[in-house]
Amino acid sequence: MKILKNVFELNKAVKNYKNVGFVPTMGGIHKGHESLIKISKKNNKETLVSIFVNPTQFNKKKDFENYPRNIKNDISILTKLKVDYLFLPDVNEIYKKKMKNFKLKKTDKILCAKYRKGHFEGVLNVMNRLLSIVKSKYVFMGEKDFQQYMLIKRILGKKYKINIVGCPTIRESNKIALSTRNKLLGKSSIKKVSKIAIKLDKLKKLSQKNRFADLSKFKHELENKFKVKIDYLEFRDENRMKLNNFKSKYRLFIAYYINGVRLIDNF
Ligand code: AMP
Repeated sequence: MKILKNVFELNKAVKNYKNVGFVPTMGGIHKGHESLIKISKKNNKETLVSIFVNPTQFNKKKDFENYPRNIKNDISILTKLKVDYLFLPDVNEIYKKKMKNFKLKKTDKILCAKYRKGHFEGVLNVMNRLLSIVKSKYVFMGEKDFQQYMLIKRILGKKYKINIVGCPTIRESNKIALSTRNKLLGKSSIKKVSKIAIKLDKLKKLSQKNRFADLSKFKHELENKFKVKIDYLEFRDENRMKLNNFKSKYRLFIAYYINGVRLIDNF
């Protein structure tokens, strides 16, 4: 695997992006990232993974500083997976150029955009910068971060005329969605997160038989039973992310804090 630390090295190593799939990450590589890489490898001759913990998408400096990093371990996993290129830029390399910032439309200010002010502007900003450097036609992103995937697909997929490919959420056998942030959780929190995921999975299945829009009772029950603070628990359709639209394919979206760690998931 070739490790490229700046744009100069990257351009020297990758001459033609035609058959290079791109998997952007913030590191802390786990089975969720691995599945994206495997899908990219299946569909492209070569695969490029980037690891960049983007400061502008964190709401608090502390959250950015505490974000789990383990580059040695990441390199060892990516090498075993036979990833062709690892792009490993620093903050200065990504942010040295002046580029236009993104603003969200009013209708986009839902779910995490409502509760994490400036978060998706930061995500779009960094992805815009990465996509202006890594010129792949296929970018693989997880449905675990469904709102992020949809925003990038709509705004940057269109801008760069590239395919943003949504990949299914990978879960542990206890139903927990793999996430780098899980490393911040203790044993008892992990147990609770698993129980919550099992409950929400059942709730989604139940909703397919017996449509119900009012989740406030269920939200309070979860908060009391597991001592979590829920930002939102909402049904939204996949295409337009409209609230309680059960006519199209829809998902149950949640964001909550457990012991100070913010987790998101959808079912
Ligand atoms: P991150 O490193 O958390 O920014 O994630 C990098 C990419 O991996 C994003 O496109 C995520 O949506 C995706 N991803 C993270 N966790 C999972 C998971 N459990 N299953 C599938 N994709 C995931």
